[in-house]
Amino acid sequence: GLQIVWDRYDAMQPQCGFGQLGLCCKVCNMGPCRIDPFGDGPKTGICGATADTIAARNLVQKIAVGASAHSDHGRDIAHALLLTARGEGKGYQILGRRKLNALAQELGVETDGRRIEEIAEEVAEILLAEFGKQEGELIFAQRAPEGQKKYWREAGIMPRGIDREIVEALHRTHIGVDNDYRSLILGGLKAALGDGWGGSMVATELSDVLFGEPWPVRAKINLGVLSEDEVNLVVHGHEPTLSEMIVKAAQEPEMVKLAKENGAKGINIAGICCTGNEILMRQGIPMAGNFLQQELAVSTGLVEAIVVDVQCIMPALTDVASKFHTKVISTSPKAKFPGAIHIEFREEDALDIAREIVRTAVENFPNRDPEKVNKPEGTMDLVAGFTMENVFHHLGGRFRATYRPLNDAIIAGRIRGVAGVVGCNEVSIVHDSAHIAMVKELIKHDVLVVQTGCSAIACAKAGLMQPEAAFKYAGKGLQEVCEAVGIPPVLHLGSCVDNSRILMACVEMVKEGGIGEDISELPVAGAAPEWMSDKAISIGSYVVGSGIFTVFGRPLRVKGSRAVDEFLRKGLEDVVGATWEFEEDPIKAAHIMIEHINRKREALKLRPMMYAAEAA
Ligand code: SF4
Ligand code: SF4
Repeated sequence: GLQIVWDRYDAMQPQCGFGQLGLCCKVCNMGPCRIDPFGDGPKTGICGATADTIAARNLVQKIAVGASAHSDHGRDIAHALLLTARGEGKGYQILGRRKLNALAQELGVETDGRRIEEIAEEVAEILLAEFGKQEGELIFAQRAPEGQKKYWREAGIMPRGIDREIVEALHRTHIGVDNDYRSLILGGLKAALGDGWGGSMVATELSDVLFGEPWPVRAKINLGVLSEDEVNLVVHGHEPTLSEMIVKAAQEPEMVKLAKENGAKGINIAGICCTGNEILMRQGIPMAGNFLQQELAVSTGLVEAIVVDVQCIMPALTDVASKFHTKVISTSPKAKFPGAIHIEFREEDALDIAREIVRTAVENFPNRDPEKVNKPEGTMDLVAGFTMENVFHHLGGRFRATYRPLNDAIIAGRIRGVAGVVGCNEVSIVHDSAHIAMVKELIKHDVLVVQTGCSAIACAKAGLMQPEAAFKYAGKGLQEVCEAVGIPPVLHLGSCVDNSRILMACVEMVKEGGIGEDISELPVAGAAPEWMSDKAISIGSYVVGSGIFTVFGRPLRVKGSRAVDEFLRKGLEDVVGATWEFEEDPIKAAHIMIEHINRKREALKLRPMMYAAEAA
């Protein structure tokens, strides 16, 4: 029979309590050691490491892995831009001239009288050097408000180089290096800040340069986007360098002709996870779903090929695909899957390789077995494509691209504040339920919600990303703003690396004035109600590290150490101006965020909410 993620989850029960509490250590070969949190068992590992050290060390390793994933993605985009600028990236064009010029100005790159490729080459070189930089401070970290930079410098967590902080964080976790949980966690935050203000921000900025800046675009979402009479090619993973080329190749007349020769009406590209978000944001390509829908997409029997690159691709995919005609095509030299066809992707031959992948999918169409087809019904409309630059273009009106109207709406009590709700799906939670419940509760209380990643996909499927959603679900104040500007109450800001757009939106809110001198004073909050990946831990770490109070659903695996748990939930306030909280009930979590936003409003002496009684 067909085994999918929920079956495997059931088979895994009960899961190990030591692991869940963060009290299992496998750092050296004298272990594994397990600390007994309750009874008379060992209170230290064989080397003497306490529960505090072990829990903090486990957490820091996860931050480092998450930061490395985003940052390696950023490096790949920078490399693709460099090759394109040098005329070696076949198929790519530099489409984001405005962003390139803005970056050139910020980085001190001369633009007068130079070709766009020369400017792009220098910008790419400068940002690539950020990965290996050994001293000083990250360039994009300088974008943060002075207050945040002061926190980072005083705590010694201002990142120097993107890779350096990840390496140092890992070094700290080797046996017998950093044994102080506070010091370990600060080391982790430093690596995470290098992700948020480094690797991820480079990924976002240079994707905008290479593929163009997103602009609001209507699209369709959910498994119903899979077509019965077209070739379905699903792109899954993270990097737009691949998915953008697949879209380009699939639109070529020869490829469409080949599809028709093979009995299909055309070629339908659909996305899963963040590589889907990237092409949704820029081109309105339909989304098939999020993390927990990857096997479901294949099990429709409608998918000719699922092409994957890196991150969040279940190894089980090849087994599920083997029950259907679906070909799993891996493309990254870093991510191979037994049972998959490997067509290695190189930016130098990007378009030719994309053509080969599309051709493989098209030629598989005649193998579709009608007996095994189970076409899912239903799609939802959404508007995606918001960015730090364009979102408040809307709030400011086209001729006044400014955050003033947002800040004014917050000051006046029309909008309570802003929440970033992001992150994964997690199998123990009813699929998407926590994202949807939390976001509905927030907008009902006049909190504007910005989203990325699988969380954005969840809420889009629930219809929360259409302008009409404001009338159905939002509080009166938020409704008025959405109506005036024509935006949904929940804004899709892109893929997980695009959480850097949320950081920059906060920077703009501070700059605009009137609602806080640094990010930690803003009436904003973050959340990841269904998080599961190490990348989510890195994101949470840099968001908290950047002064934004953040609520995770299931707790980080540190509950076996009261000291670590308290440091994350209370102690970090004095260090970075924000803390974590953990709450599995999404409605309760939303209210924790609302109360936090209310406290920030009170501290800023903002007016009471305009329609407080109705929102309560
Ligand atoms: S204690 Fe650690 S090594 Fe042992 S079963 Fe649990 S998670 Fe695995
Ligand atoms: S580092 Fe210490 S606690 Fe961890 S496995 Fe080795 S001996 Fe055990």
